[in-house]
Amino acid sequence: MVVGMSRAWVVLLCVLAAPAYSSAQTNDNKSLAPYIAVDAPVFALEHVELVDGTGRAAVSDQTIVVEHGRIAAVGPSATTAVPAGARVLELAGHTVYPGLVGMHEHLFYSEPTSSALRGLVGGELVDTAPRLYLAAGVTTARTTGSIAPYTDLNIKKDIDAGRVPGPELDVTGPYLEGNPPLIPQMHVLTGPDDARKMVDYWVNEGATSWKAYMHITPEELKAAIDEAHAKGEKLTGHLCSVGFTAAAEMGIDDLEHGIAVDSEFTPGRKEGECPDNAERYLAEHVAMDSAPVRAMIRTLVQRHVALTSTLAVLESLEPGHPPMAMLLREHDAMAVEAWSGVLTTRALIQERAAKSYWPALFKKEMQFEREFAAAGGLLLTGCDPTAYGAVLPGFGDERNLELLVQAGFTPEEAIAIATRNGAEYLGRADRVGTIAAGKQADLVVVKGDVAKDITAVERVETVFKNGVGFDSAKLMESVRGMVGLR
Ligand SMILES: [Zn+2]
Repeated sequence: MVVGMSRAWVVLLCVLAAPAYSSAQTNDNKSLAPYIAVDAPVFALEHVELVDGTGRAAVSDQTIVVEHGRIAAVGPSATTAVPAGARVLELAGHTVYPGLVGMHEHLFYSEPTSSALRGLVGGELVDTAPRLYLAAGVTTARTTGSIAPYTDLNIKKDIDAGRVPGPELDVTGPYLEGNPPLIPQMHVLTGPDDARKMVDYWVNEGATSWKAYMHITPEELKAAIDEAHAKGEKLTGHLCSVGFTAAAEMGIDDLEHGIAVDSEFTPGRKEGECPDNAERYLAEHVAMDSAPVRAMIRTLVQRHVALTSTLAVLESLEPGHPPMAMLLREHDAMAVEAWSGVLTTRALIQERAAKSYWPALFKKEMQFEREFAAAGGLLLTGCDPTAYGAVLPGFGDERNLELLVQAGFTPEEAIAIATRNGAEYLGRADRVGTIAAGKQADLVVVKGDVAKDITAVERVETVFKNGVGFDSAKLMESVRGMVGLR
C-alpha cells in the first residue's frame, strides 16, 4: 500500500515536472524561426541545375520562381522573368530537386539496447526524427508502421500548425501484427474481426495508411485490406507469413523491402507460415530471372501493387556496410549509447562475415528492383530507421538515392523514385513530387551536380517546404547528441 502510494506520487511528480512535449516549449509559429533561412513571399532560385522529379535528364542554368508557396515559373535563366521585388538567390553550382516523398519512414528508432543479440525495442524520436527528415530534404513522409500512434498523430498536428519543423506526414496506424510480435509495443491481432476493429478505431483517430506485419494471418490480412479500402485508405506490408503473390491477389497496395523478405519461394513453406530460412534460401538458390520470380513481378504489376525499396537498411545488414564514412556522417546527431550500440552490432556482423548471405541477397534485391521497375512496377523508397540503428531518419533517405544509382538507375530516375512515385502512390501528384508551375514549392537545394555525382545529395543546404526555406545545418545542429534519446 505504502509502496503503491509512493509510486503514484513519483508518476504524478513526473507529469507535473515535465513540460508537455512540445506546446509548452513552442506555443506559436515563431518557434520555427531559428531554422528558417528564406521566408519571402516571392523569390527566385537562379542558375540552378534542375532535376525535376519526372525522371528526365537534368537541365542546366534554370530559374525557379516561387510566389506565396507555389511554383510560379520554371525555365531557362536567360528567358524566365523574375517579378520585381522578388528575393533572388544566386545558386550557380547547386542542384535543385523536389522535396523527397519518403515512403518507409518512422518516427521511432531502434533503442540503443537493440542489437543482433537482444532484439528490437522502438524508442519514439519525438524531437529528432521530424527535424532529421526535413534537414535531409524529406518534405512528405509516410510513417509506415507506428509504435506510438497517438504520439505520431500529435506530432503531425504540431507540424501542420507550424509549431515544430518536419515533413508533411501520412500517419500510418499501429502495425497489424500476428503472433509473435517482433517489437513488444505491437498489438497481437486475435483474428479478422480484431483486424477490422483496429483499422476502424485508428481511422477515426486520424491514421491515414496501414501496414501489415510479418506474422499476420492470411485471414487477418484480407480483412484489414478490405476494411482499409472501405475507408478509402491504402495498406502496405512487410510480410513473411503471406507471400507477395498471395498478398497481391488479396488486393494489397504496396510491399515493403522487396524480394529479400518474400518467403513464398522457400521449399515446403505453407501459406500463413513464416519460415526461418527464407532469406538464406533466396540468397543461395533463387535466380532473379527465373520463371517464378518473373511471374511474381507480373502479378504485382498487373494488380498495381507498388514496391518500397529500402536499400539503406538492408545494406546495414551486410558485413562492412555502410562504409564508415557514411556512418560517421551520423555520429554528431547520435547519443553516445546509440553510437556505441551501432558499432557493437556492426562488429558482430563483421565477425560472422564468412557465413553471411547478405552480400548475395543485397545484390539480388538490387536486381529485383530494377526488373520490377523495368516491367512497369511503381517503385517507391524510404529509409526505415530501424534494424540495429545504423540508418538514421533522413540520412537513410539520402543513402537510398546513392544505392538506387548503384543498382543501375540514373540519378534522375533515382530522384523520380524518391519523389514523383511516392506522390503518385499517395494521390498527391497534383501538388508535390515534381517541379513544375502550379506545384507546391517543396524544393531541395544541394551543393554540386547530382546528375554527375549522386553523393551531392549528402550536401543539402536549404529545404523549401511550402515555399519556406529551412536551413539544413541549423536543423542538424538542433538534434546534436539526441538520436536514441528523444
Ligand atoms: Zn519499417
